[in-house]
Amino acid sequence: MTDLSYKDWKSKAAALKFRNQCFISGTFCDAISGAKFETLNPATGAVLTAVARGNGDDIDRAVKSARSAFDSGVWSGKTPSERKEVLLKLAALIRDNIPEFALLDTLDMGKLIKDSSTVDAPGSAHFFQWHAEAIDKLYDEIAPTGGRDIAMIRRVPLGVVGAVVPWNFPLDMATWKLAPALATGNSVVLKPAEQSPLSALFLAELAVEAGLPDGVLNVVPGYGQDAGQALGRHDDVDCLVFTGSTAVGKLFQRYAGESNMKQVWLETGGKSPNIIFPDADLDAAADMAAFGIFFNQGEVCSANSRLLVHASIKDEMLERMKTRAEAITPGDPLDPASTLGAMVDKSHTDTVMQFIESGRQSSRLITGGERVTLNGSDAFVTPTIFDNVESNHKIARDEIFGPVLAVQTFNSDDEAIAMANDTVYGLAASVWTKDLSRALGVSDALNAGTVSVNTVDALSAMTPFGGMKQSGYGRDLSIHAFDKYTALKTTWIRY
Ligand code: NAD
Repeated sequence: MTDLSYKDWKSKAAALKFRNQCFISGTFCDAISGAKFETLNPATGAVLTAVARGNGDDIDRAVKSARSAFDSGVWSGKTPSERKEVLLKLAALIRDNIPEFALLDTLDMGKLIKDSSTVDAPGSAHFFQWHAEAIDKLYDEIAPTGGRDIAMIRRVPLGVVGAVVPWNFPLDMATWKLAPALATGNSVVLKPAEQSPLSALFLAELAVEAGLPDGVLNVVPGYGQDAGQALGRHDDVDCLVFTGSTAVGKLFQRYAGESNMKQVWLETGGKSPNIIFPDADLDAAADMAAFGIFFNQGEVCSANSRLLVHASIKDEMLERMKTRAEAITPGDPLDPASTLGAMVDKSHTDTVMQFIESGRQSSRLITGGERVTLNGSDAFVTPTIFDNVESNHKIARDEIFGPVLAVQTFNSDDEAIAMANDTVYGLAASVWTKDLSRALGVSDALNAGTVSVNTVDALSAMTPFGGMKQSGYGRDLSIHAFDKYTALKTTWIRY
């Protein structure tokens, strides 16, 4: 899709159709209350459309629809190969509509069209395809009981899955939940983030076109405190999967405890360290370190937001980082030549600027730190690097979720490991060294769900993604994602 010009994207954006209602039992419908909320393009401040604002009543209607579809066996009773065929058709339909999906996410949350059209939308098709292809290659087990017994251990779907997702990769975060949940035969109620509900609604429409029976996938747009909470507290939801902030993840644990003890799986925040040892390829490390913090405006859960550099190479590394940061400048997300998009909204931009202000007071600003106005919107922040950041300062500890890098120095491997692990989070980490023994030793010692050596944020449909500590538990992607959506059921037969 990279061959579309700025002009092409603008004219496609002007002609784009928005689905803006709840999607329940295979059809679009207004919220029962009739309420709506506006979703804006953060890059211009323009209202895109008014979207149905679902609440507990709509969630209840969607859960009933999901339950009745599940109990009927119309999807849960299909063979894995039959489900595979439908999900492969969905992957193909997503691929046929990459420009539309890319535009929906770019307009709704400010990310670059060059990323949404080459990473997010093709990624969604790929993840659906991968989980579809995997589902009829998984075998169940027979336990080695011996004697005149057969003990069959089978994976069975859980029933109704509630999925609550964030705005930073709207289509892909929904896909990471939906693909394994649907492949295993569950029915789903999805609540997209209020900042970015549009791509999920289009996806639901295409799922039905692909052959997913009505009621198997329902989407209820709305706010977290009403629609999200209602899903978390619903007594007929068997499993709640969440991607979002750690604070809200803890609420879902509480909702489950105060309702039906549904399973809860959490993919939450991060403050990932990127450790640069003196023997690293500094040019490659700087290229990837810049990508690791500035890609998607730094609105990435696994963003490498802490750069831990050996004291002997700090100046060389900082010089490289400054050059790379200054080559990235905010621009219209619809322009394929732009290198940094808009922050998701004004209020998040305010939060990021508050972190920058507090950084200015305690640390050394190397570059950036500016809020920029473009096309009437001030939701743009320049790539920012702070040096001499104290470990206990909030820019070293809190998830900023913006293009802000905190640089700290270390003098030994042990000190690097201790600094890297000095966080409540444990999502990802990166290590740069040519010494294999050091690479493996340090990787082993890091508390992180994924460690990338001589790269950052390595990720694939083939490998599990998720965190340790307060970055959550449970894994998206790979064969292991199926674990969240199935229970092991044992059947004994004596003969
Ligand atoms: P958020 O926690 O504010 O919102 C996420 C979702 O939860 C949204 O759908 C929102 O409506 C809902 N929600 C908010 N308050 C709620 C409440 N009281 N009850 C029920 N639901 C509620 O997060 P965000 O700002 O949308 O996204 C950014 C966060 O997501 C960051 O912390 C980031 O690290 C995290 N994230 C994590 C991963 C991962 O895989 N670990 C991936 C992407 C994003």
